[in-house]
Amino acid sequence: MRKPKIVILGAGYGGLMTAVSLQKLVGQNEADIVLVNKNDYHYETTWLHEASAGTLHHDRVRYEIRDVIDRNKVEFVQDTAVQVNKEEKKVILEKSEINYDYLVIALGGESETFGIKGLKEYAFGISNVNSSRQLREHIEYQFATYNMEEDKKDERLSIVVGGAGFTGIEFLGELTNRVPELCHEYDVDFHKVKIICVEAAPTVLPGFDPELVNYAVSQLERKGVEFLIGTAIKECTPEGIFVAKGEDEPREIKAGTVVWAAGVRGNSIIEKSGFEAMRGRVKVEKDLRVPGFDNLFIIGDSSLFINEEINRPYPPTAQIAMQQGQTCAKNIAALIRNKTDLDQFKPDIKGTVCSLGEDDAIGVVYGKKLTGAKAAFMKKVVDNRSLFMIGGVPLVLKKGKFNIF
Ligand code: FAD
Ligand code: NAD
Repeated sequence: MRKPKIVILGAGYGGLMTAVSLQKLVGQNEADIVLVNKNDYHYETTWLHEASAGTLHHDRVRYEIRDVIDRNKVEFVQDTAVQVNKEEKKVILEKSEINYDYLVIALGGESETFGIKGLKEYAFGISNVNSSRQLREHIEYQFATYNMEEDKKDERLSIVVGGAGFTGIEFLGELTNRVPELCHEYDVDFHKVKIICVEAAPTVLPGFDPELVNYAVSQLERKGVEFLIGTAIKECTPEGIFVAKGEDEPREIKAGTVVWAAGVRGNSIIEKSGFEAMRGRVKVEKDLRVPGFDNLFIIGDSSLFINEEINRPYPPTAQIAMQQGQTCAKNIAALIRNKTDLDQFKPDIKGTVCSLGEDDAIGVVYGKKLTGAKAAFMKKVVDNRSLFMIGGVPLVLKKGKFNIF
């Protein structure tokens, strides 16, 4: 009898968790499992703010996919997915095509620029290893160039961060630790450097615990960050940005580096493949399948899963993507054994920890508020835990964060 073919697109948190769970749940004779990813490595998206600021080398945030999968059970294909043809049960890749019986789309998200002029062209993002490496190098270039010019351009040393969500704040935490090192390395006066965070909402980290938000703001201000709250980025240019508060006329802020960290949307393949989506995210059923398609799962940042208590989608997080990967694997294992009783996904939110640099953080873990060293310790526990869930102790020993005290 022909074995069913399970294809997983994306080896991020959701896709890799699906693959390593499936390889435990499904026998070699039960199914063919194929994992497709554009790179031969997985990167820890949740560590990219460190690679972007230059506080952690980009090689530390990635590892070989082949090292964590069971190659007897999972075939790895390095290729880029272009489109899904759900009627013909086929995925178009850049170099080939692949048919499936069951498909898991776990391609993550993309930066949401809301159509704001100039952002795609001139702002840097924190989305993957390439963008993080480029941002780190760009900031270093600005510092290296400053003293080379007779007519000093102080705006070279101005860095604007758009968005004070978790990504923006975590990046600022790393950046404020890195800037004194850069000043020392490139003989630049620290007082010439400006770090500005622009946030459209009336507060930093909208929706998060106000006491912890105040802690984060005062720690970052102490390290030199200027916050422009209730102020939106309206345009990005090669020279900087235009911002406006409410209905005020936009004003220019000149800056050599603009970082856009103000939101994510689903992978563009979702819309290209004709799925009904909201900002590139497909509202999935409780068993994580796409409505109307019994063999098609979407998980992670390209999916939208409703929190029924508040009737709003859960935020796109690694925590949820990994848990979805586990449920998705269980459900596919059930389907190939002709079972119809599938698991209903129920997120088990253990908490949220937001780093403010290597040595500081804020968080709520199991309902308990944490700040400072305790929260920073917890952040490293969370980071190590995600390695453990994918690759067990060997991966933690290889890539883990042990500078915990
Ligand atoms: P990803 O982990 O992004 O993986 C997608 C994979 O698909 C990647 O391997 C990518 O290379 C691959 N891919 C993309 N397009 C293609 C294609 N066309 N063809 C083939 N392969 C493709 N969440 C938390 O819970 N806790 C945190 O502390 C946290 N910190 C974060 C810090 C930062 C700086 C950022 C940016 C996000 C953070 N998040 C955090 C959010 C979290 O990273 C995402 O929600 C999570 O990565 C989503 O997982 P995913 O599996 O959907 O996608
Ligand atoms: P986000 O959507 O959570 O935050 C974006 C911020 O940008 C918002 O505060 C928004 O008001 C602001 N913004 C939007 N348009 C703007 C404009 N024109 N000008 C200025 N500000 C503007 O995005 P994010 O921070 O990238 O987070 C994405 C997801 O990843 C979230 O679900 C988040 O929970 C998760 N994440 C979690 C962690 C963590 O747990 N430590 C870290 C990073 C990201």
